Amino acid sequence: MIRIALPNKGRLADEARQLLEQAGLTFDARGDRALQASLGDDFLALLVRSRDIPEFVADGAADLGITGLDLIEECGRPLDQLLDLGFGRCRLAVAARDDSAIHTVDDVPADARVATSFPGLTRRYFETRGKTVFVVPVSGAAENAPHLGVADYIVDLVSTGSTLRMNGLVEIGTILASSARLVARHGLLEDADTRRLVTELVAALESVIRARGKRYLMANVPRDALDSVKRIIPGLSGPTIVEVMDGGRFVAAHAVVDQRDLYRVIAELRAIGGEGILVTRIERLMP
Ligand code: AMP
Repeated sequence: MIRIALPNKGRLADEARQLLEQAGLTFDARGDRALQASLGDDFLALLVRSRDIPEFVADGAADLGITGLDLIEECGRPLDQLLDLGFGRCRLAVAARDDSAIHTVDDVPADARVATSFPGLTRRYFETRGKTVFVVPVSGAAENAPHLGVADYIVDLVSTGSTLRMNGLVEIGTILASSARLVARHGLLEDADTRRLVTELVAALESVIRARGKRYLMANVPRDALDSVKRIIPGLSGPTIVEVMDGGRFVAAHAVVDQRDLYRVIAELRAIGGEGILVTRIERLMP
C-alpha cells in the first residue's frame, strides 16, 4: 500500500480529493471523521492538516503527499516534487501599511518587525537581502498585526489581494508563487513496483490536469472547406474527419480545442458554413 497524505480540511482538501477521483481513485472513508480512506487496491489516503504534510512525508509516515508549495518550502525538509497540480494558486507576499512611505522590499529597514505564519521563509528571504528582520510568529490572520501595533509588515498568502486592501495593506514584494504539489519522500521511487504505481498515478493526474483547459469540439463542415477547417481547428495532430451520410457535401470534423479559443473557433467555423456544432468536456487527455 502506498500511503498518500492529503489535506483533511481547508482550501486544498476538496480539490485534492476531486482530482484523485477524476484520475480514477475512489475514496472509501469509513465514517465522516476517518483519518484514513482507501483509494483502491494500491493507495491509502491519510487525512491530515495541510501544514503537517511535508513533515509527515519527509519522516516517512506517508510515502506521497499533496499540499501547497508554500508549506513545502516553509518546512524546508528535502522532498521529491513530482507534479504541479495547478490548483491552490496563490503567492507569499510582503505587505506594508498603505499609508507607509515604504513601497519596495529594499526600503524595509533591517530591524523591521514582520508578522507571519511563515517564519522560516520570511527569515530566509530577508537574509538573502542582507536584513535580519524581527519575525513575529502568528498562526493566522497576520493582516491584523499592523493595526494591533505588533508589526509594521506582514508576510502572508495572497490570491486576489482583496484581504490586504480591506485591511489597509499594500503588497511590496513577492517571496514565492505557490500551487498544490504532489511530493514523495526521498528514496520512494527506488523500488521498481512502487515506481511503476507512482508513475501511473502521476500520468493519470497529469491527464486530468491537461484535460481541464480543453474541450472536444465536433462540427459538420462543408467538404470543400477542409483547408480552412484544418487551420481553424488543428487539434493535437490534425482534426479527425468522419464521413456524414448526406450524399457527400458535409464531413464531420472533430478536434481538441483550447477552452480559451472556443468562442473564436465557433465563430470561424460558422463563417465557413459549419453547423451542428457540439462541444463536450474531456475527462482525461493523454497525447
Ligand atoms: P488550509 O490552511 O488547509 O486552508 O490551506 C492553506 C493552503 O492553501 C495554503 O498553504 C496554500 O497552499 C493554499 N492557498 C491557496 N490559495 C490561498 C489563499 N488565497 N490564501 C491562503 N491559502 C491559500
